Amino acid sequence: MAQDSLADLLHTTPAHLKKLREMGIHTITDLLHYFPRTLEETAVRRTMAELTTDTKVTLLGRLEFLRSERTRSGKRLFRAGLILEDGAIAVLWFRQPYALRNFTEGTRVFLIGKVKYDHQGYTLLNPEVHTRAGVHVGGLRAIYPESPPITSKWLREKLRPHLGFSKDIPDIVPPAVRQAEGLLPLYQAIQFLHAPRSTDEWTAARRSVAFTEVFGIQLRVMHAKAARHEATSNPYQFTFAPDTVKADIDALPFTLTFAQKKVLFHILSDFGRDRPAQRLVQGDVGAGKTVVALLAAAAMVRAGHQVALMAPTEILAKQHYRKALEFFDDSVHVALLTGSVPAAQKRKLKAALATGQVSVVVGTHALLTADTTFHSLGLAIIDEQHRFGVRQRARLAESGTHLVAMTATPIPRSLALTLYGDQDISVIDELPAGRLPIVTKVIADPRAHTQAVRFIADQIAKQRAIFWVCPLVDESDAIAAKNVLTQYELVRDQLLPDARVEFLHGRMKPDQKDDIMARFRAGEFDVLVSTSVIEVGVDIPHATVMVIENSERFGLSQLHQFRGRIGRNAMQSYCFLMVGKTEDSHKERLRAMEQSNDGFHLSEVDLRLRGAGDLYGTRQSGLPDLKCADLTDTPLLECARRHAESLIESDPTLARHPIQHAWVQAGEVFFSA
Ligand code: ADP
Ligand code: MG
Repeated sequence: MAQDSLADLLHTTPAHLKKLREMGIHTITDLLHYFPRTLEETAVRRTMAELTTDTKVTLLGRLEFLRSERTRSGKRLFRAGLILEDGAIAVLWFRQPYALRNFTEGTRVFLIGKVKYDHQGYTLLNPEVHTRAGVHVGGLRAIYPESPPITSKWLREKLRPHLGFSKDIPDIVPPAVRQAEGLLPLYQAIQFLHAPRSTDEWTAARRSVAFTEVFGIQLRVMHAKAARHEATSNPYQFTFAPDTVKADIDALPFTLTFAQKKVLFHILSDFGRDRPAQRLVQGDVGAGKTVVALLAAAAMVRAGHQVALMAPTEILAKQHYRKALEFFDDSVHVALLTGSVPAAQKRKLKAALATGQVSVVVGTHALLTADTTFHSLGLAIIDEQHRFGVRQRARLAESGTHLVAMTATPIPRSLALTLYGDQDISVIDELPAGRLPIVTKVIADPRAHTQAVRFIADQIAKQRAIFWVCPLVDESDAIAAKNVLTQYELVRDQLLPDARVEFLHGRMKPDQKDDIMARFRAGEFDVLVSTSVIEVGVDIPHATVMVIENSERFGLSQLHQFRGRIGRNAMQSYCFLMVGKTEDSHKERLRAMEQSNDGFHLSEVDLRLRGAGDLYGTRQSGLPDLKCADLTDTPLLECARRHAESLIESDPTLARHPIQHAWVQAGEVFFSA
């Protein structure tokens, strides 16, 4: 069976098995889904006339004149001559190949390597040695992502006898769909991916598997949507009163952007429909999502229902709480529920939620405990929704509550189509008037570093606040805390001796953190050195500088989030991307930051550079691990979506499609309630 353990099926070493486990490969099915990254041509050439230089070639000939020698600098080399049908070519190895240990001269061998041409003639450099044609020689062969000791050679040899197991893998794409779209049966596509006879076969196989992956996601999304439509009515239905909403808007200290009004209107209109809202609000950092949420909350409260606003961190929850207190007048009871609220107070608060005394509650995960019940929860707003797990998001919105999720991590359109196919999307695609683009600079050398520090000192003299972020592995991590302390001391004692500097990290107690943030907001000190606890949402209007240490370790979306902590008013802001060790892949990312302030553009770049899996973290997002599908291939996504939709239309519960039913049950959709 394809689920059998690898130890029983493969004759291999414990080291290989251990590595496979680390790679998440536990069964033959997993191994069959470990796809090659590319192909290599190994058609056999026998003559000098067929030689080409600088590309890999496969030569068949007799090996003669084997000898090892030393260069003048003392390095060992291994040399031979390969006798072809119409001449001979020199062969050079930098060390003796294992295959030639007990080799007799004159034997026929296949050598695969690059040929170089210079004044000494042709030389074949460091070629692989094979004594037989077969898996590795003679046609197209698969090149896999390697992690030693798991090499392409090893994978080709181990997979070949087991390709037949691909027939045991359930195919979720119905045969009629495969036929309509010209796709190969799944088992055949898998076999062709590992052992194609032509590049056409390989391309067709990739397309077939890509379709399967995307169809699988769509099926889950469509199934969830159908289930929701079956199950729910809108118990919190009302038509909003435009005049009251207008009065709320007029009372704000600023003018709403057109985009904010548009999205507010989307949400308010949702309240009047037959089904609860399920809306994702996307807006770049600083676009002003919070106030839109509060305006929607006001309408719901006026209709006599409760509102819950959930944020991923205590700092952010408290900030929203403060904003809500400012926003609502005394007639509306606003409460804060986070993990650090004392138990007795929590109990009282929960009782007040259950009786409906509290109209608006702002909180963290603490809102999700089983003993938190609401009298009449009309609207749940989830800020920075990508920070919550699928189930957590769903928990708040049981029994017909309208659900509005907000995110500042822009999702490229193609991905949104795929992952959020079951809900409505609104985009706040405009920043409040008067915002200046943030000036961003990569700081790579010591001179630039000195200049940046001088510049920061100057900003501090102008009463501006400075964020100084250190990289982290994990928020709870002791190492991250230590990094912060080291950096804090460096900034305080050496870089900015005249500035008032404080630090913040995830291991500090909640009231300590609060105190720091409150003092930072009040301008009681100048520089906050921290981990990425300040990554999302935090609003310190007079902050104009964001320094990010080891910026090469962060993804683009995260860097953009950090940068979004500044430039939240009319003052010119600056972001310094400090660089430790760069590779070329980092450079492109950091350059993109210098060139663009547009989160949507950056997310497209990030998707291209890193792939969707890395971007959205497959585990947390519910996004299956995509091997072949390219989430920027919109035509494929739309095609798969169409087919998934019509399958679900014909059989909403999938009762007549057991394979698809099992697939849907085995995973979650990215976002659904
Ligand atoms: P985000 O969309 O990143 O969550 P916030 O809601 O925190 O952004 O808003 C960022 C800042 O902009 C806040 O200080 C907020 O009060 C302010 N703001 C929001 N909307 C406007 C507007 N239309 N004009 C001016 N300032 C605004
Ligand atoms: Mg926000």
